Amino acid sequence: MKPLSVPERLAKNRFNLDEEESHIEVNQEIARATGTGRAIVACCPAHVYAEEPDGTISVEYAACLECGTCLAVAAPGALKWHYPRGGFGVQFREG
Ligand code: SF4
Repeated sequence: MKPLSVPERLAKNRFNLDEEESHIEVNQEIARATGTGRAIVACCPAHVYAEEPDGTISVEYAACLECGTCLAVAAPGALKWHYPRGGFGVQFREG
C-alpha cells in the first residue's frame, strides 16, 4: 500500500466549525508594530492568515490545524489563541 502524501493526509481531516466563536484574534496594532502579521501569514501551514491590501491581517479560523506554530512566532499580545470549544475544531483522520 502506497503511503499517503501530506496533502492527501490533510485532505482527510474533518473540521467541525464553531460559527459563533473564533478561537483566534489578531491585535492589529501590535501585529503591525512587531512584524507578527507577516510572520504568522508566512508560517501557518493551513493559510489561516492573509495580509489585506490595507495591511491588516484577516483570519479564516475554520481551517486551523491547531498546531500552535503561529503562537510560537507571534510577539506578546499580538495574538489571542485558544483551542476551539469542546466538540469543535479539527479531527485528524490520518495521524
Ligand atoms: S495553530 Fe497552526 S494552523 Fe492554526 S492558525 Fe496557528 S499556525 Fe495556522
